[in-house]
Amino acid sequence: MSTDHKELLLRQAARLAIRANDFALNGDYIDAVKYYTQAIDHCGEHAIFSFYLNRALCLLKMDFSYLALFDANQAVRLSPQNVKCYYIRSRVLRKLKRHELAQNDLKIAMKICPNCEIIREESQRINEQSERELCFFNEKLKSYNLNDKTYYKIKVNFHLIKARDLPTNIWNYNGIRVENIRYDVPIKLINEYFSLFGNIEFIKRAYCYYDDDNYHNQSIFNRSSLSPTSSSSSPSLFIYYYNPVTPMFTIAYFQGKTFKELCQINDDKQYKSLRLYFAPTDHQIELKYFRPNYPPINTQECYFWRTTYCNLKERCPKFHLQPCKNVDAQMWMFK
Ligand SMILES: [Zn+2]
Repeated sequence: MSTDHKELLLRQAARLAIRANDFALNGDYIDAVKYYTQAIDHCGEHAIFSFYLNRALCLLKMDFSYLALFDANQAVRLSPQNVKCYYIRSRVLRKLKRHELAQNDLKIAMKICPNCEIIREESQRINEQSERELCFFNEKLKSYNLNDKTYYKIKVNFHLIKARDLPTNIWNYNGIRVENIRYDVPIKLINEYFSLFGNIEFIKRAYCYYDDDNYHNQSIFNRSSLSPTSSSSSPSLFIYYYNPVTPMFTIAYFQGKTFKELCQINDDKQYKSLRLYFAPTDHQIELKYFRPNYPPINTQECYFWRTTYCNLKERCPKFHLQPCKNVDAQMWMFK
């Protein structure tokens, strides 16, 4: 592209962006987004960070936080020394409750602009919000009516997990399913590992299979004919707890971790890391063999992201929270 042509495109894009700014100032965010998008499309690879940053602000106003994050990331990429990019991205991250990441951005912003009062205030706001949420979390924990032992275990081991790894348990599953765990791990060892955040009610290994219409979850303890050494039909391990909070913490702590005593070995002689999912217990019939209804509380989380796969990816208007990826996938969903 010739320099003249490039300048012409940028001038046209700037005009579109000025129109967008006017709409944004008047609170008409839909039209503002439309014109920022035209400005961005107009200059293609020469897009200016401020177009993305301003569109991010409009998207944030309209509560499309994940789209806003996408734009804020673009802005940071295009102008990595600009304090405004980090500041705006931290606001998007705060809205997404990713407080640690938001504080990271503010730290970078403070390095670029050490005496900025606005950045310091924002950092303070995030700290206060985190504290409020911790209080809220403690309240919520109380409302589950956990017995003293569970409450104590969670309190004592709370420091082992990071809040950002904690999946939400929107259907209040009381159990977990663990994959990539070895077939021959003794029950005693499973008990030692997996009762870190609450006592275990029941452990079972199970194969799941289908016949024509029905789903069966057949405990292998009742079936002597199955070969325990066949790795292709390695059973899943189900662990049931007495409450829906223990599974959340257990998943947050064990997800993706590798333990020599527990994990299967793959063909390259490497230990596979553990994969954990929420699972209904035998008492939770209403969750057991079919897609559960959307939870009564509107969590804004994407059902497909939580279970199998979301085709919309970053264009999805619902939340895709990292610790919740596939966490509600049940074996019957992969028929
Ligand atoms: Zn989605």
